[in-house]
Amino acid sequence: MKIKSIRGFHDILPESIRRWHFIEDAARRIFELYGFSEIRIPVLEFTDVFARSLGTTTDIVEKEMYTFEDRDGSSLTLRPEGTAGVVRAYIEDSMHAKSGISKLYYTGMMFRHERPQKGRFRGFYQIGAELIGPQEPASDAELVTMLWRFFEETELTQFLELEISSLGDQNCRPQYKEKLVEYFTPQKNDLCENCQRRLQANPLRILDCKEKKCKEIAAEAPSMLDNLCQECENHFNAVKENLTAVGVPFVINPKIVRGLDYYTRTVFEVTTQELGSQNAVAAGGRYDGLVEELGGPDIAAVGFAMGIERIVLLQEKAIPKGFPKKVDVFIAHLGDEARKAAFPLAIELRQKDVSVEMDYGNKSLKSQMKRADKLGAGFTFILGEEELEKGVVKVRNMNESSEEDIKINEVVDAYQKFKS
Ligand SMILES: [Zn+2]
Ligand SMILES: [Zn+2]
Repeated sequence: MKIKSIRGFHDILPESIRRWHFIEDAARRIFELYGFSEIRIPVLEFTDVFARSLGTTTDIVEKEMYTFEDRDGSSLTLRPEGTAGVVRAYIEDSMHAKSGISKLYYTGMMFRHERPQKGRFRGFYQIGAELIGPQEPASDAELVTMLWRFFEETELTQFLELEISSLGDQNCRPQYKEKLVEYFTPQKNDLCENCQRRLQANPLRILDCKEKKCKEIAAEAPSMLDNLCQECENHFNAVKENLTAVGVPFVINPKIVRGLDYYTRTVFEVTTQELGSQNAVAAGGRYDGLVEELGGPDIAAVGFAMGIERIVLLQEKAIPKGFPKKVDVFIAHLGDEARKAAFPLAIELRQKDVSVEMDYGNKSLKSQMKRADKLGAGFTFILGEEELEKGVVKVRNMNESSEEDIKINEVVDAYQKFKS
């Protein structure tokens, strides 16, 4: 049997990795400017970490986690998302005792046993950021602005919309839930099976059900935004003001929900129409109750996560030509003596940050020139017996098809001078 990769898992090949680097580098650069530092957390945690943070009745925990028993019988899970592990690390390393504000970002592979489709994998990559400590609306706005700046930097905002809303808090959400139950109960039999079940446990989830009938009924449902308490309304207004002040465009979508109680106030999603029905490329919000839920102190937090595969798909629309690897210099050599002279020359150039390729054997000049072309070399240095005798290198500018003989011991300096 031929070996192959697991369904829903994919390789990122060298021809596309430069786009990944471009995206990851942009995230790192922007996040660092906003004061964030990278944290690396294990891909494997005790199942409890996710069960407690994601809620035992969510789709992820019920159906999608890769959970297995360790050799000692403990239940382990491959991380389905990053926040739970970051908060676990935050508590375990007592970061709250070291600083009132922790700004953390992560990138890495996540695992969910979902039905694979375009841009959706079972093993997929996310970049996320968590701002733990402050509860002021300026922190929500800073985080959202940072996310938007990342999308500007990667030339993606042309395809994107930022949607924000508020979920209220423990003060105002319970009454709102009651209003929802009141609203949906008379139409209960028209709701889908899932939503009928949600009606008592989690009526907010009905608002983002994808079933047509549920959508129609939910369209007229009371809005959380009309039912915020004064503090929540002030908070939401301040977030909006801050975003407006720095020119981050947003729309209000009161239908954004999160199923769990520790989510409070601000929620946001970055969506696109370009990738079919699964339209979110990033999602986040304030989760003031999670640190305590996982056994830490009562500390506020706000964060987001984004799926890199889907950002890569969008990025292909923004910069279709991609990011091909190019070699600065190709050294073509003819004969054993020339090859021996070419090797230290290649090493010297690389020491000076010039990327160099050359053949290992004794190929024909024609085939070497072909490879230089294929590698997109800007210059080819030709070293044949004649050049060796004269102590020169024939330097060919591949873009201008011009040639010049340069002394072999001066060619590195000459190249550097030309490039600068
Ligand atoms: Zn439904
Ligand atoms: Zn409130």
